[in-house]
Amino acid sequence: MFTVDSIKRKLQRIRLPVPDYKFSWNNWVPKKVSIVAWRAEKNRLPTMDVLARRSIYCISDLCAFCGEVEESCEHTFVSCPFVRSLWQVIGQWCKVQAIYAFSFWDLLGLHDSINGSKNKRKAFRSIPLTTIWCVWRRRNDVVFNRALVSLAKALKKQRP
Ligand SMILES: [Zn+2]
Repeated sequence: MFTVDSIKRKLQRIRLPVPDYKFSWNNWVPKKVSIVAWRAEKNRLPTMDVLARRSIYCISDLCAFCGEVEESCEHTFVSCPFVRSLWQVIGQWCKVQAIYAFSFWDLLGLHDSINGSKNKRKAFRSIPLTTIWCVWRRRNDVVFNRALVSLAKALKKQRP
């Protein structure tokens, strides 16, 4: 017999896993910028590996930038040679130590390594969020509009 109370008791017994990482929102960037990073952190961007798991197959499942390995969030934002070059330029522009990320969470935690006020760290946090958004936008341009993979074009001013 189904009752609301029985479902409520069953749901209370289920212990959902608590995520290790709590996404920290930043109100100094547009929400759509933060949402891309939030979705990437949860592996919910429609990268080729995610689409394949949903039985959606594309002509190529390779990275849009380097074309060498299967596209995934981790590769697209962290380990792709194209994006690594981009992070190096961003690090030089910010006048911080070279940006080395071994995981997506490393990118989201870059602001923790910055000395200074809370506002300075908050301002710095907006940089990886915005870069992630720009990378995703550039990736979509390459995939859907056949744009050229160009570091110079990726660094051009983009409208958020
Ligand atoms: Zn790549």
